[in-house]
Amino acid sequence: STQIRLARRPDGEPDADTFETVTVDVPEPAEGEVLLAVRWLSLDPYMRGRLSTAKSYAAPVEIGDVMVGGTVAEVVESRSESFATGDLVLSYSGWQSAVVAPAGQLRKLTGDAPPQTALGVLGMPGFTAYAGLLQIGRPQPGETVVVAAATGPVGSAVGQIAQLRGARAVGIAGGPAKQGALVQEFGFDAALDHRAPDFAERFAEAVPGGVDVYFENVGGAVWDVVRRHLNTYARIPVCGLVAGYNATASPEGPDRMPGLMRQVLTQSLTVRGFIQNEFVAEHYRDFLREMGEWVATGRVRYREDVVDGLAAAPAAFAGMLRGQNFGKLLVRVS
Ligand code: NDP
Repeated sequence: STQIRLARRPDGEPDADTFETVTVDVPEPAEGEVLLAVRWLSLDPYMRGRLSTAKSYAAPVEIGDVMVGGTVAEVVESRSESFATGDLVLSYSGWQSAVVAPAGQLRKLTGDAPPQTALGVLGMPGFTAYAGLLQIGRPQPGETVVVAAATGPVGSAVGQIAQLRGARAVGIAGGPAKQGALVQEFGFDAALDHRAPDFAERFAEAVPGGVDVYFENVGGAVWDVVRRHLNTYARIPVCGLVAGYNATASPEGPDRMPGLMRQVLTQSLTVRGFIQNEFVAEHYRDFLREMGEWVATGRVRYREDVVDGLAAAPAAFAGMLRGQNFGKLLVRVS
């Protein structure tokens, strides 16, 4: 098996020294285990957190350990009654090409959807959008929902689900190509390029009635602009802050905390962080059924950005944190 392991904790952006590639022999599966050949590896922003020892909701990857990650794998040898050779499974095998796994940790993939969608629109990122928007954002017909990183798997689903609930969806993304895709491909009602010099003015024009739900994916300069347009009783599911994941220091400038807290108070804002896991037990089945239907009928569209081979994973991962991916970032492992 080829493995990519954490070699060194990055200071700022992950780079060529962050990871190392090794080749190891894979043991025979024992009773109750299966041998997996990894087909698809998901690359996700949360992995930046696993590179750091800063306090978080999950333990960091240790130096020398295989990088963690969601995968779609094929069973090549089974010593479990639940799986047969050739089955495709959702597993959490990490950045490696083959591995032995306990059968109890795998979910068999069935149905007509392409298997790698279990890592995107029909998996963790899609569920993050579904649960965070519907449980915390609670968009109502006619309301305005804003989301950034809007061509990614979370953001694109947020906008489309908001529209299925009768809300108006405004997407923010980096660069004209992504901005165009928001309207043409995903059907957002309006789209903004956060890198454009007149982003703040364009944003103000795009939300004449203010913002009722801001699904927070990025933080940073985008949040600074969006928060000027929040309506009273706005809901802000805080899902991610990717603009700051590589940050090594607090941003320059005046302390904005008192002003922000005054705004939370006087506008009766609901600012509510979440990690998608908390909603799984109660809502995952509904998600699979409802989102499965929406995707199958074309009411929710998705976009994938595929890179080939594990060797491409480190650079693709670092690029994602800069916005180089265009859609759900996946590694086709073999
Ligand atoms: P994406 O595929 O959308 O990739 C991240 C995107 O972030 C980049 O493509 C880029 O898009 C955008 N970005 C990076 N830097 C900035 C910046 N400075 N300002 C604005 N945008 C920036 O990722 P996902 O859809 O997988 O994840 C989206 C967010 O959801 C992340 O914050 C992630 O951590 C979070 N998340 C949270 C979960 C939870 O349980 N709370 C679960 C899953 C994801 P662009 O080029 O458009 O700027």
